[in-house]
Amino acid sequence: MDKIKETYNRLKKNSETILGYPVARGFSYQEFAPFLDLCINNVGDPEIQSTSAMDTKEIERECIAFFANMLSATMKDVWGYITNGGTEGNLYGLYLARENFPNAVVYYSEATHYSVHKNLHLLNVDNIVIKSQENGEMNYNDLEQVLMMHRHRPAIFFLNIGTTMTEAIDNLDEVKRIIDNYAIKDYYIHCDAAFLGLVAPYRNPKPKFDFAENVDSIAISGHKFIGSPIPCGVVLAKRKHRNRIGNAISYIGTMDTTITGSRNGLTPLFMWYFIKKYGKEGLKKQIGESLELASYTEKKLSEIGVKAWRNKDALTIVFNKPSEFLCKKYQLASEKNIAHIICAPGVKKEEINMFLKDLKAEIMLKDIAC
Ligand SMILES: *Cc1c(COP(=O)(O)O)cnc(C)c1O
Repeated sequence: MDKIKETYNRLKKNSETILGYPVARGFSYQEFAPFLDLCINNVGDPEIQSTSAMDTKEIERECIAFFANMLSATMKDVWGYITNGGTEGNLYGLYLARENFPNAVVYYSEATHYSVHKNLHLLNVDNIVIKSQENGEMNYNDLEQVLMMHRHRPAIFFLNIGTTMTEAIDNLDEVKRIIDNYAIKDYYIHCDAAFLGLVAPYRNPKPKFDFAENVDSIAISGHKFIGSPIPCGVVLAKRKHRNRIGNAISYIGTMDTTITGSRNGLTPLFMWYFIKKYGKEGLKKQIGESLELASYTEKKLSEIGVKAWRNKDALTIVFNKPSEFLCKKYQLASEKNIAHIICAPGVKKEEINMFLKDLKAEIMLKDIAC
């Protein structure tokens, strides 16, 4: 069993130098260890008990109710389930959209997560990539130009509430203005809030993206801001959309309203634990701490002569890509010539300082070489 020990040690060590991905650490779900000896399965719709009684659906529903409330809705109007992550939530939102408007065109910006293109391919819907602005936000002029040519078709807007690279937020008011301008009657709005879904509701002013703004569906990752040993997420949608696609299945004794059949029954426990332990107040506190660290990181980068920036109130600091060596050491995601640090919960100031020290040394060496 040396291999197991080895694998654990490698992961434990690497978990201390991950600065480039939006994943929280420092959580502990040891209390749930006994559950690892059970075969838990939340098969089918979370609101309908299956013939199998090995589920955590009650816990799952409590999680969904928390998210509904956070996203300005009640369970009367929205429905949702715990997914395997942001990708599945986005696929689900787009699936509901297509079932609503089979002849629609999907509009999404070039800064959109790579998985969305594949989702659209799976769903076989027409789609058009819209240009992004410098900060990662959608270019509304381009959206307007493109939409103008397709105003006879229903429109599905896939909006980013925190893009992957720069944490940019697409402006819902701008999109609505364009919808009005071209008198688009049939449209659907999905918001991808993978990382920011648990942060944006507590910002002041609050970015517009939730059910109060009449969006149709929202996807959030669970292993990002909350943190989980197993990838997970939530998707919420207007109840009427889910009712349209539901099929009663005799074999499982419930409705087949989710993407996968068998579903993870452990991850709802983790999310529920977080919600009960921290709640809204705890979330706000974590956001405050992460924000402070982000501001510190941006300032310190500038001090050592690195051109760094971030979107307003972002936890993501963007800067020129350092050496491959440092990108690998600190697990920094990069795209073209930029890299980023994401101050997710659990990232420590000492880790940032260690990176800054390494980066500074690298810059000095380069200066000498020049
Ligand atoms: C991470 C991310 C996704 C994909 O989520 P997974 O949980 O990895 O499937 C989608 N969109 C954005 C903006 C993301 O940051």
